[in-house]
Amino acid sequence: MDLEVVTVGTELLLGFTLDSNAADIARVLSGVGARVVRRTTVGDDAASIRSSVSEALARSGFVIVTGGLGPTRDDITKRAVAELFGAPLDLDEAYLELLRQRFAKLSRGPMPESNRTQAEVPRGAEVLPNPRGTAPGLWLTGESGVAVLLPGIPDEMRRILEREVIPRIERYDPPAQGSDPVVTLSRTLRTTGVSESGLADRIGDLERQLGPVTLAYLPGVEGPDLRLTAWQMPAKQAEAELAKDVDLLLPALGRNVYGEGNVQLAAVLLDELRRKGLKLAVAESCTGGLVGAKLTAVAGSSDVFAGGIVCYSNESKIRDLGVSAETLEQHGAVSREVVRAMVEGVCRRFGTGVGLAITGIAGPGGGTEEKPRGTVWVAAKLGEAVESHKRWFPGEREEVRHRAAQAGMDLVRQMLAE
Ligand code: ATP
Repeated sequence: MDLEVVTVGTELLLGFTLDSNAADIARVLSGVGARVVRRTTVGDDAASIRSSVSEALARSGFVIVTGGLGPTRDDITKRAVAELFGAPLDLDEAYLELLRQRFAKLSRGPMPESNRTQAEVPRGAEVLPNPRGTAPGLWLTGESGVAVLLPGIPDEMRRILEREVIPRIERYDPPAQGSDPVVTLSRTLRTTGVSESGLADRIGDLERQLGPVTLAYLPGVEGPDLRLTAWQMPAKQAEAELAKDVDLLLPALGRNVYGEGNVQLAAVLLDELRRKGLKLAVAESCTGGLVGAKLTAVAGSSDVFAGGIVCYSNESKIRDLGVSAETLEQHGAVSREVVRAMVEGVCRRFGTGVGLAITGIAGPGGGTEEKPRGTVWVAAKLGEAVESHKRWFPGEREEVRHRAAQAGMDLVRQMLAE
């Protein structure tokens, strides 16, 4: 039988503690014909524990995990693995009583409340008694295989391993692989034009209905992505769960979703223009050609992307786009009036029905009280309609520029969708 070992502990990663547990487990198991085929060490955080255990189960269907079972670590391993197995934690009254008695017998006074969590057992798990300590071992069986959780303290670990785990491993009969393999599957919804907290406000209430699927918010300059993950379940079930949850979230997310997976906003925009037989021209000041770069990064964009002008200086805005010197003088380069004149000018220049213009203060200098660093005006023109918006973006220069390019392309996409 092949299996994997995951040892949990930031002190192991930092090198303050040598990982003797992994070596002990491998040695003891080899004596009963079980082979450790891979060892992984992760820090004390739930996401790392969950992904390492889930990957180990996907590969070998059997994993032994040590560490992170004590009350001082918040039972981090037990909680993460129980979640993976979809098993709620139930209070084991008998074990709680045993713990109380142990504290009384050792004259340690009343049991601290923090130890109570050690009597919480994932539903369906077998409790492996720990005569030397307070955290019991646990044997969890699920569709993805078996996870055995042992305390990190080497003495306690070895004792439970020898007395409880080895006899069970000797009796263990690995299940035959079914026709529907157990997998971990994700789907990612890409959103833009809304902040991470704005998204949470909209879909927070729905999160409770997501069933065994977890939801992660992944913020970035292109906008927050939402990743739904179905952990360790038969492939067909995982696909169905994800499809159900995507359908649940989409109405609440509305037009802020522009695609799924690795899709780029530029590609979505180009497709939409192509579908409508329209051509786009762009005038870029603070983004300095970023929109053009993003559009031309998509192969075959020349049929809808007519071209662009990088009009970083006032002279260029006047000479190349026909923005009037008075407008610039009166309102400043970062203003509604100028961005609208820019978008009109670029459409005229390229003879396109659709235009986009961006002008802003990317920083670090150039900001004022009225127009702080990160202030950006974007305008889009579709036929006769022109829409312009003032936005403010956080971050350093590069971040502001990327956010502005994304907001500009999104404005055009939104106008096309109306
Ligand atoms: P506790 O009740 O102490 O919180 P625990 O199960 O949460 O127990 P940890 O807190 O992770 O375990 O570790 C307890 C002790 O055991 C620490 O001193 C740690 O350095 C040691 N230890 C943990 N894992 C290992 C390992 N893989 N090899 C050797 N020692 C370890």
